[in-house]
Amino acid sequence: MTSKHISNYLISLEEATDLIKDIKIPIKEEKILLKDSCNRILSSDIYSLVDDPPFNNSSMDGYALIYSDTIGASKENPVKLDVIDIISAGKKSGFKIISGYASKIMTGAPIPEGADSIIMVEKTSIKDNKLEIVSPSFKTYIRFQGENISKGELILKKGTKLTPRDLGLIATSGHNEVNVYKKIKISIISTGDELVSPGKKLLPGQIYESNSLILENIVNNLGYKSYRHEIIPDSIDQLRHELDKASEISDVIITTGGVSMGDFDIVRQIMEKEGKILFWRMKIRPGSPPLVGEWIGTPLFGLPGNPASSFVVFYVLIKPWLNFISNTHNQEIKIIKAKIVEEIKIKPGYHSFLRVFIENNGQEIIAYTKTHQGSGNVNSLSVSNGLTFIRPDENVSKNDIIDVILLD
Ligand code: AMP
Ligand code: MG
Repeated sequence: MTSKHISNYLISLEEATDLIKDIKIPIKEEKILLKDSCNRILSSDIYSLVDDPPFNNSSMDGYALIYSDTIGASKENPVKLDVIDIISAGKKSGFKIISGYASKIMTGAPIPEGADSIIMVEKTSIKDNKLEIVSPSFKTYIRFQGENISKGELILKKGTKLTPRDLGLIATSGHNEVNVYKKIKISIISTGDELVSPGKKLLPGQIYESNSLILENIVNNLGYKSYRHEIIPDSIDQLRHELDKASEISDVIITTGGVSMGDFDIVRQIMEKEGKILFWRMKIRPGSPPLVGEWIGTPLFGLPGNPASSFVVFYVLIKPWLNFISNTHNQEIKIIKAKIVEEIKIKPGYHSFLRVFIENNGQEIIAYTKTHQGSGNVNSLSVSNGLTFIRPDENVSKNDIIDVILLD
C-alpha cells in the first residue's frame, strides 16, 4: 500500500475506486446447508441435478385422454369416455390410455402413458358413469419434462448473492448444500466524545449515535458479518486499543468520525502517526473527508462522522469494493434516469450525491429532495429512496434528466 496521496490533493471517486481495488483480503469458502444460505454469496456455479419438471405432468385438475378422441365433440354429439383411473400428484398410473378411455388426473400428477391431452375438469361432466365432453380438447395443460431446466444446466453463477427466490430454484434442482464465500468480517467503530447510545439519557452537548446502526445493517444485508464495537470517545489510547482488537477479529475496519481537520479528529491523527494511509479526502459531496489505509495490515476505511456523509461514502465507495473483492455480481449500484424537478445546488468539480425521493408521477420518473441537504441530517436518508449521481463536470438545471442511484 503506497501513501502517495496524503497530500492536500483531493482525489476523485474514480481514482479512489481504482486505488482501493489493490486492497486485497483473503476470501475463503465454506459448504453450508441450503436452508441457511439466503443472502450468502455463491463461491461456485450451480448446475441442476435433475430435469425440472422431472416428468411430464398435468398443469390442471382434469382428465388425461387422447386428443383425437375429442375431435368433433359437441353438445349434440358429446364424446363419451370410460374413466379407468384417478391419478393424484405423487403417484404414477399403471394404466395406459387407449382410445375411448381417460384417467382423472390432478395438478402435478404424471401424465399416463398414451395420453397426449388434458381437458379441464370444468369442461366435462359425468353421466351414466361416463365422462362426457362437449367440445374438442387441446394439446395443452401438459408440463413437459425439462421445460424449465434441464439436468446439468447452469442455473446460478458463482458470485450470486442468493435471494429467497434463488433458494427455491436450488431446491428444485436437487441440491441441499451450497458452496459460499465465508462472510467477510467487518468491524464498525464509531468515534466521538459526544456520542451516546439511544436509550440512555442525553447530557448537555451529547447526541445519539446513529452511524453504526446504519452501517451494521447494510453490511449484514450485503451478506457480510459486522461487529459493531462500543462507541469510542476521542481518545487516541482507547482508539488504538479498539483498532488493535478490530484488526484481530475482522478482515476490514470501518470507523466513523474523527477524520477531518478538527483538534479531536483522532482517527486521522492516529493513522498519520501509527497507521498507513492510502488516501485522504475525496471530491464528493457529501462525504469529502474519508481516509483509507490500513491498521496492522487490516484495511481501514475512516468515514466522516456526519450520518449522510458516512452513508454516502459507504454506498458509493466501500460497497462497490466489497462486491469487487467478494466477486459478487448481483448487488451492484443500480442507476436509473429521472427528471430532477427542482433547482439543486451542486459543487462544480465534485460528485454530488443529493438524497432524493424518486417516484413515478403517472407520466414520468421524477426526483426531488424532501429535506435540506445538510450532511448531518439523518432524516434526509430516511425519507429518500435515491441519491443523485451527478458527475464533477455536469451542469444540472431544473427538469434535466439525470442519473439517480436507487437505494434499497
Ligand atoms: P466528526 O467527523 O467526528 O467531526 O463528526 C462530524 C459530525 O458528525 C459531528 O456533528 C458529530 O457529532 C456527528 N457524528 C459523528 N459520529 C456520529 C455518529 N456515529 N452518529 C451520529 N452522528 C455522528
Ligand atoms: Mg468527532
